[in-house]
Amino acid sequence: MGLFFYIVSISSFKKKMIKTKVDLKKFSKIVFFTGAGMSAESGIPTYRGKGGVWDEYKWEDYACQYAFKNNPEKVLDFHEKRRKESLKSKPHIGHNIITDIQKRKRETWIITQNIDGIHQRAGANRICELHGSLWRLRCESEQKLFFDNKDAVYQARKCSCGLWLRPDIIWFQDELNKKVVSSAVDIISQCELFISVGTSGKVWPAAGYPKLAKSNGAYCIEINTEETSISHIYDQFIKKRASQGLVDLF
Ligand code: NAD
Repeated sequence: MGLFFYIVSISSFKKKMIKTKVDLKKFSKIVFFTGAGMSAESGIPTYRGKGGVWDEYKWEDYACQYAFKNNPEKVLDFHEKRRKESLKSKPHIGHNIITDIQKRKRETWIITQNIDGIHQRAGANRICELHGSLWRLRCESEQKLFFDNKDAVYQARKCSCGLWLRPDIIWFQDELNKKVVSSAVDIISQCELFISVGTSGKVWPAAGYPKLAKSNGAYCIEINTEETSISHIYDQFIKKRASQGLVDLF
């Protein structure tokens, strides 16, 4: 019985890995859910794992409110390095495919955990940035946002009120922005096609979004170079790099 169940599970998982083109005519509401693996091919390193940013830097010193209070300049220097890395990178064909689909299908959304702004540089819009953006700063006292998206170096590090400006990013131990989460949940709950690209499914609450899409009836596809702990919930799993996976699908 155990062996039978194992064989059935393996063969149904293999079935999921069969390549099938998406027939876009069947779907109006589409979500691309992107993570660090989407940007990795553009040359932006992942944060976790071997060779990741957290191998070189301790997040406690660079990516939390405590570190910012303690040494704002050090934290801003660190984020300028991330901005520099991001400016050196270029969108790849996968980014262009998503932008093109957005142009043809008005109800296509990108929900991203990335903070690098590469989707915008590929011409995309309707982007929900769950973890904020490297290209925005905010004044905590005046609750004002500053869009600063030209150079690696920040135009200003302090607000006119005298307070240090904080990168508008969800750092370790921060809560996500409630409005952003609520709109992501709305969009995902209504979508008909959900395509996850290059995300490990380890960071919450984003890790719960594929299940949310699935339980609301969406057809779900995962593109990843590795199987993840939630690969089994998808209707289709494409074990490929983001760019090749998207080329195969569309
Ligand atoms: P993660 O680092 O936890 O997982 C990355 C996933 O991408 C892994 O499952 C890996 O197998 C896969 N992957 C790696 N290269 C790939 C490729 N070429 N094609 C397809 N898949 C590939 O990333 P996460 O799930 O996005 O969560 C990490 C957190 O760190 C997020 O909060 C995110 O905000 C942040 N982050 C952002 C950036 C960025 O803005 N570019 C980069 C690193 C981390």
